[in-house]
Amino acid sequence: MITVDLRSDTVTKPTPEMLAAMMSAKVGDDVFGEDETVAALEAKAAAMFGMEAGIFCPSGTMTNQIAIKCFTQPLDELIADQTAHVYRYEGGGIAFNSGVSTRLLNGDRGRITAEMIAPEINAENIHFPNTSLVVLENTVNKGGGSCYTLADIAPIADLCRDKGLKLHLDGARIFNALANTRDKAVDYGKYFNGVSVCLSKGLGAPIGSVLLADAATIKYARRIRKVLGGGMRQAGFLAAAGIYALDNHVDRLQIDHAHAHILAEELGKLNWVISVMPADTNIVLFDTVEPADYIIKKLNEKGIQCMSTGPNRIRFVLHLDVHPEQVEYTVSVLKGL
Ligand SMILES: *Cc1c(COP(=O)(O)O)cnc(C)c1O
Repeated sequence: MITVDLRSDTVTKPTPEMLAAMMSAKVGDDVFGEDETVAALEAKAAAMFGMEAGIFCPSGTMTNQIAIKCFTQPLDELIADQTAHVYRYEGGGIAFNSGVSTRLLNGDRGRITAEMIAPEINAENIHFPNTSLVVLENTVNKGGGSCYTLADIAPIADLCRDKGLKLHLDGARIFNALANTRDKAVDYGKYFNGVSVCLSKGLGAPIGSVLLADAATIKYARRIRKVLGGGMRQAGFLAAAGIYALDNHVDRLQIDHAHAHILAEELGKLNWVISVMPADTNIVLFDTVEPADYIIKKLNEKGIQCMSTGPNRIRFVLHLDVHPEQVEYTVSVLKGL
């Protein structure tokens, strides 16, 4: 039986070529600053996004949490959309790691605007937490892979600069956004104080994210990473996978997006599907008449794995281990369900 794993773009396994790159990496003790492959990855990613420096971390949760710690003081408040990964899926880390409260907005599929943010910035008053940070996500996971363009982001960056707020990007899937919007990665450095990029999502590396910022922020970030237990030794074996992914797995994201389109179009024709969100990137969210768990069980029986994101909502995520024949198979199963 054909099997298809549409649960997440984190389920990918390193390709033979990626494994070869990992095995031949030059490594050293990165806590001593002696791993040249880690340094190369950090410099490469920073240059790509027009940032001064970078830090390699085990996860996107850690890069986001370090960024929040770098850009806030305890008793501060950050602003994010109510779907934000930093708020929903990082275990309450904002409060635990940084002692910061969160002001949530109701964006359009997770996308917020300067007009929405402006009235939520607290005035100077001892009753109010000090608003110091805005966090955007691009693409928005819970928005079904919805994207901001840099034109959308520019007014938010202007507002933040004007009000003395920092602006951080949770760019777990930033390359998916770039493939869709055609904006240039290098321009991101002009708008954001911090950018987190996941290597372990659509890019297909087994582990790792990088946080990009100015040199002083990254210097402090190294201190925070150490405190969190994220100082890694011969991490160049992992960084090599990241470098390989940046060199070889960015352009192919278009394939995942095309596959998402095919599935979304097919789902739109089915009478047991109530609605399908636009499949802008590699995620397809759709609502079902029957409970999601019931549909998922039926799909599991046919070898298709996926997850629910609500009682009647199912998520398909496309990635580099889903090939055209598996997409075709999925379409045939959906039609026959
Ligand atoms: C996956 C993800 C992260 C980071 O998750 P880790 O599993 O900790 O690497 C951050 N933000 C978004 C939107 C994500 O989808």
